[in-house]
Amino acid sequence: MATIENELKGKRALVTGGSRGIGAAVVRQLLDAGAEVITTARSATSTAPEGAGFVTADVRTRAGAEALAAAVRERLGGVDILVHNAGGARPYKDASAIPDEEWQDALELNYLASVRLDSLLAPGMRERRTGMIVHISSAAVLTPMGPFLHYTAAKAALENYSRGLALELAPFGIRVNTVSPGRVATPGGEETREEWARLSEGPARVNADDTTPLGRDGRSEDIADAVLFLASERAGWLTGSNIVVDGGEFPRG
Ligand code: NDP
Repeated sequence: MATIENELKGKRALVTGGSRGIGAAVVRQLLDAGAEVITTARSATSTAPEGAGFVTADVRTRAGAEALAAAVRERLGGVDILVHNAGGARPYKDASAIPDEEWQDALELNYLASVRLDSLLAPGMRERRTGMIVHISSAAVLTPMGPFLHYTAAKAALENYSRGLALELAPFGIRVNTVSPGRVATPGGEETREEWARLSEGPARVNADDTTPLGRDGRSEDIADAVLFLASERAGWLTGSNIVVDGGEFPRG
C-alpha cells in the first residue's frame, strides 16, 4: 500500500515483536508514514528496523509488560498506536500431546500479554480521548486443529476480548480492531510449518498455489498494509472488526 507521506506524523507507536517477520514490516511502514516507533522483542536481531527505538522485554510476563509500558512512557510520553504482534506457539502431534505449560505459555503470549499491556497503556489513551489498538490474531482460528489448539484457543480468546474492549473504549474515541493473517512467509511461520510437517510426516512444503485462492503465501507487508490502514484516519469509523488477510484461504462462517 502506498503510504500517504506524513499521514501518521506526530503519532507515537508501540509494536510488540518487531525484530522480524510481520512486526518488522509494521514498524517499517509506521516509520515510513512518519510515526515515532518503539518496538520490543526478547532479543534484538540484525533485522530490527532502523529508525525505531528498541526495548528488550518479554511480553509474556506482567513484569515485562510493566517494564515496557514504563519505557514507552519515559521515551514517548505515551502511545497513540498500539500493535500487539508478538505471538506464536510450537505445534504438537495432537491436542492430547500439548503439555500444561505450553497451554499456559500460549495463553500468556497470545492473549494475556495484550490484556496486560492494554490495561497499562489504554488509560493514557482514554485521558487523551484518542488512540488505536490492533491485536494480531490468526485466520487459523477459523479452522482449529489439534496440533495448534493451545494457539488457536488463545487467539480466539483474544478476538473476543478485542471486540469487547472496542465497545468499552469507543466512547473515548479509541478504536480497537483485530487483524487475522493467513499463511505468511516469516521466520516464525516457516519454522512452525516445518515442525508441523515433521510431526505429521507430511510434505515439508505445501504448495500455496494449490491451497490459497490468490495463489501465493502472504508477505509480511500484506499484513502491515491492513494494520496501517487501521492506524490511519481512513479507518475512522472502524472498530471491533476483524480483518482476515489470507489470500482467500480460510472459510468464512
Ligand atoms: P515471528 O516468530 O517471525 O516473529 C515474532 C516476533 O515476536 C519476533 O520479533 C520475536 O522476537 C517476538 N517475540 C516472540 N515472543 C516474544 C515475547 N515473549 N516477548 C516479546 N517479543 C516476543 O512471527 P510472525 O511474524 O510469523 O508472527 C507475528 C504475529 O502474526 C504473531 O502473533 C502470529 O501468531 C501471527 N500470525 C502469523 C502467521 C504466519 O504465518 N506467519 C499466521 C497467522 C498469524 P524474540 O523471539 O527475540 O522475542
